[in-house]
Amino acid sequence: MTRLTPLLDRNEQFARNYSPASLGLPTAQVLVVSCLDHRVDPAIILGLQLGEAPVIRNAGGRVTQAVLDDIAFLGVLAEQLIAGQGTTDGLFEVAVIHHTQCGTGFLAVPGFRHQAAAATGRAEAALEAAAVVDPYVTVKADVERLLTSPLLSPKVSVSGHVYDIATGRLATTADASYPQTQSP
Ligand SMILES: [Zn+2]
Repeated sequence: MTRLTPLLDRNEQFARNYSPASLGLPTAQVLVVSCLDHRVDPAIILGLQLGEAPVIRNAGGRVTQAVLDDIAFLGVLAEQLIAGQGTTDGLFEVAVIHHTQCGTGFLAVPGFRHQAAAATGRAEAALEAAAVVDPYVTVKADVERLLTSPLLSPKVSVSGHVYDIATGRLATTADASYPQTQSP
């Protein structure tokens, strides 16, 4: 018995009408980066189906080095999956979603930040920078971080969005754009 036990019944219901999605490009051609907050589940707020979009979640939905690494890997994987199909269009769009009332906002409070630094071993300055106090500000910064990363494939575009916990609405704050190609 675990706390998952009652949820296994839901999995049984799910498996009864299940048909597996094949490995290929996500059919929505979108990769979502969002907060791990249980009130902001991209599958639910965007109505995602299996096979439509990979989702990377962490505290705040921040574009960290680990997220950049995963997106670079998925870019290479997508190239591999479409090899020989003659497709020259974009691979997928990374949609970065930050949200209101984010729990990482507590990191802006010095006492909490001090405790979090002790618990995680991370520097207080890094934790302060990770806080989503104003999602409009942080989503803009993270879209920029992706677009200027040398790891981002020129075939991957990036957009920014803010989800409002109070209304359930997602607002686009940055339309999809591709990284500028750097001249040598
Ligand atoms: Zn959050």
